[in-house]
Amino acid sequence: MYPVMLDLVGQRCLVVGGGGMALGRVQGLLAEGAKVRVVAASPVQAIDGLASSGAVELERRPFEEADLADCMLVFAATGDRDLNRRIFSAGRARGIWANVADDPETCSFHIPARVRRGAFQLAIGSTGEAPFVVRRLRQLLERRLGPEWAEWTKAAARFRRFVRSMGLPRDEREKRYDRFFAATVDAARLTARVPTSKEEASWLRGQTGELRGSLSTGQVTHDLPETGRVGRSTGGSVSLVGAGPGDAGLLTLRGRQRLLAADAVVYDRLAAGALPTDLRAGVQLRCVGKEAGNHPVPQEEINALLVCLAREGKRVVRLKGGDPYVFGRGGEEVESLVAADIPFEVIPGVTSAMGALAYAGIPVTHRGEAVRFTMITAHECGKGDGAQVRWDLLGADRHATLVGYMGVASLPEVTKRLLACGMDPCTPAALIERGTTSRQRVVRSTVAQLPDVARAARIQPPALFVIGPTVRRSETLAWFSRRPLSGERIGVFATTGGVGETLDLAGAEVVEVPLPLTQAARIVLGSAPLTGFVVNGRDDVDALAEDQDGPGFSADVVAWCLSPDAAERARQLGWRHVEEVRSNSEHGGLIPAISTRRQSSLAEAKVQG
Ligand code: SAH
Repeated sequence: MYPVMLDLVGQRCLVVGGGGMALGRVQGLLAEGAKVRVVAASPVQAIDGLASSGAVELERRPFEEADLADCMLVFAATGDRDLNRRIFSAGRARGIWANVADDPETCSFHIPARVRRGAFQLAIGSTGEAPFVVRRLRQLLERRLGPEWAEWTKAAARFRRFVRSMGLPRDEREKRYDRFFAATVDAARLTARVPTSKEEASWLRGQTGELRGSLSTGQVTHDLPETGRVGRSTGGSVSLVGAGPGDAGLLTLRGRQRLLAADAVVYDRLAAGALPTDLRAGVQLRCVGKEAGNHPVPQEEINALLVCLAREGKRVVRLKGGDPYVFGRGGEEVESLVAADIPFEVIPGVTSAMGALAYAGIPVTHRGEAVRFTMITAHECGKGDGAQVRWDLLGADRHATLVGYMGVASLPEVTKRLLACGMDPCTPAALIERGTTSRQRVVRSTVAQLPDVARAARIQPPALFVIGPTVRRSETLAWFSRRPLSGERIGVFATTGGVGETLDLAGAEVVEVPLPLTQAARIVLGSAPLTGFVVNGRDDVDALAEDQDGPGFSADVVAWCLSPDAAERARQLGWRHVEEVRSNSEHGGLIPAISTRRQSSLAEAKVQG
């Protein structure tokens, strides 16, 4: 078999058949700009739709040989094996390439599986002999090749244009291409980065350029092919990365970049939900706990672990909840790295106060109302730290917002002190539990009543308290809890294009799950229970079935099936909640379905409660 990439723009292609398989072919051809003719006696609705919008030419009748006139390709997907074979032979006789669905021996070409990143495409095929391997390889590469390759390809094309415009001899051109490649592609990790214009300029001028990047310049470390060296050219390093308050979307771009390139990740339990689920398979993942009242790994051991991993030459990410320097003991960790002479950097994160207040609709400052902002940790306010807190200043300040971390247990003590120092008992106050996540809860009252309200609502850590005049504004400014899918945490396969974004915009917390499941994905799934899962086809259901008893799943997880096939399989496997959703390509049907189910189960819970 001889691989080619065909330019189909404006070329006539024929699809015979009107079922799901034919539809897939039609869509694939249209995406490449082909002129598509469909011959089918009773096409599915979607093909009808394409015909009435003028996107395809539809002949509603049985196939005739004359349909092959002027075609470049023909796809036979009628479901009738003999007819398919006849179409194949007729095409062949006219010199037209023919592909017969589900009949690999009767094909003059096969469609490879592909991984696409912008103009860069990888095609994978097995001459039709082992499609199951092809499918899995594609999934593997989908996961390994990050989205950055699309931008990288654009940059490479631009670089090539520059080089060509210089009119250099071939070996000089190749040298510049080598430099571009060596400095931007990490061969071991299959990651790429877009070079800066300064770097490009220096490579164009023919300077060696700084190929051995270091953390301080934000570059990745590379093996240099021209010296034939293998292995790491610099020692290990540690990036302290703030994971944000819980919503995985609030991790910074740089934090994500470092995580994807890491050899080892040392994370706190509160940061687990923010791990990118597409972390590469070989990365070492270590949880060092840290939850209220439960510090399984003592701080000194964490410090020593970071030093030890870095000394092994690893790129280590220390992933911490919120911001590493806000009540996170980040300073102590960095001090031990300094003492051990290990290169490090600190990548800030959205601290939970900022995240949770924004999601709860409480502006941290507001003109004329709150002009100062204090963050305190209240968990030892009765003991050592207490002496460091100026309750007198805090209690007397009417134009300020006060946020307390680790404050659930000590709330009664805190409010007592503030009131004793002259705070107005009617000052608005709130507690935000698990802010920015699908399990966010906000309770509001006055500062005087907050401890009682918190107890009645059984608020649990992690939670923050907020005291100040702007808390009142959440009545009108709350938005997160008001979206149709608020409270839902839904797993979505990374390959089910577009669903994740649709659900996210409707307010659901979306967990993107790569196949096969990575260790990171298992950790993220286990960090909080799912309410539902979107499954496309039978394969998705089978893939999930293996993990269904794992962390994050429960008997209440709803399987939202986008095809009858998936629903049938899920029922066969005995899943308790199987919902079939008819949906268009934008998956619009999912949102009303999920939110209706949510409303009715909330109502049921109320009746029972
Ligand atoms: N470095 C972290 C704070 C670590 S201390 C940061 O910048 O946010 C842990 C405390 O943070 C918890 O006890 C709780 O008070 C607060 N916290 C962390 N995540 C939270 C969340 N999603 N919602 C509310 N409070 C949170």
